[in-house]
Amino acid sequence: MMTLACQKCQTAWAVSDKDPELPLLVIAARGLMNCPKSNCDGQLIEAKKRARARKISATELYQASCGMGFAFERQCGSREITKLLSGATIKSISVGPSIDPHKTVLKSLTLENGKVVHIGPSTQGAVVFKITENTDGG
Ligand SMILES: [Zn+2]
Repeated sequence: MMTLACQKCQTAWAVSDKDPELPLLVIAARGLMNCPKSNCDGQLIEAKKRARARKISATELYQASCGMGFAFERQCGSREITKLLSGATIKSISVGPSIDPHKTVLKSLTLENGKVVHIGPSTQGAVVFKITENTDGG
């Protein structure tokens, strides 16, 4: 097992030595892999084996580290999103500047129930690509 742990939040993940995609995680040894937990800006480093490390595939850990979310956070089908957003109260939003100063980039919606709906662009419109839990109260 290869164990990777966040230097900031101390959360650890374990990846099998037999995982064919293990080379994806080589960058972690250089301190360049972001913590995959939402609301944590720490970096993953290779660590000693930990009993509480969550077993995960190299591909899923890599994708989550790149901001795509864990597999359970990427369940964003139209049925789930309709159920989640219909009648929901938005507590806060995350926005960024657009090239056009008269427009805004909408990044995520934080709902009153604590769910954070992350939005990205596509040629067909906005895409909900992951749903996380708000753990910082914002
Ligand atoms: Zn972390």
